[in-house]
Amino acid sequence: MKILIVEDEPKTGDYLRQGLTEAGFVVDLARDGWDGLELARSGGYDLLILDVMLPGLDGWRVLAGTRRAGLETPVLFLSARDRVEDRVKGLELGADDYLVKPFAFAELLARVRSLTRRARAGLEPTLLRVADLELDLTRRRASRGGARIDLTAKEFALLELLLRRQGEVLPRSLIASQVWDMNFDSDTNVIDVAVRRLRAKIDEPFPVRLIHTVRGMGYVLEAREP
Ligand code: CA
Repeated sequence: MKILIVEDEPKTGDYLRQGLTEAGFVVDLARDGWDGLELARSGGYDLLILDVMLPGLDGWRVLAGTRRAGLETPVLFLSARDRVEDRVKGLELGADDYLVKPFAFAELLARVRSLTRRARAGLEPTLLRVADLELDLTRRRASRGGARIDLTAKEFALLELLLRRQGEVLPRSLIASQVWDMNFDSDTNVIDVAVRRLRAKIDEPFPVRLIHTVRGMGYVLEAREP
């Protein structure tokens, strides 16, 4: 899941980027409204988090520009303003939610999860499955053979990607860009280490392996005939 944050205040922007990255999202950060709009229009985001007061274009105009470009990306406004008319304006312009600063990160995260979930509800399944392995995207839980498995945010994101594209060989570079937001030529050792950790949790304790290494190519998740 990819999120764009448009926030000019450096501390808040960095704090949000770090928190959401740790929560397993791929995050881009723009520091002003023009950059924000350009990135938002390039598409590919599952959620926009827009500050209202921004240099250049304010958050409302970023939202209006995004909608004019035909994009229905959900938007969460973040603002120190808490006047009722500001909230009403934001919601009338098509914002999906509005959070007043200062806010607790836990509350922001809960809203982000709710918005990204709502956006894909009806479009995609909330339960991904292969063999006896299940990933519940709504409750953020993994289980195999009915036994709950605790995953870190990155492990969850990695397993989600493998499950969504099960049966397909995923190159390390693709995994890197989708889960870590790293470039094609980044050190892919990170991927191998993460896959090893994931295997230790979802494969090794069980008789049938689901994650397979395809030499020279990458990884594939599938139930193979024994
Ligand atoms: Ca601001």
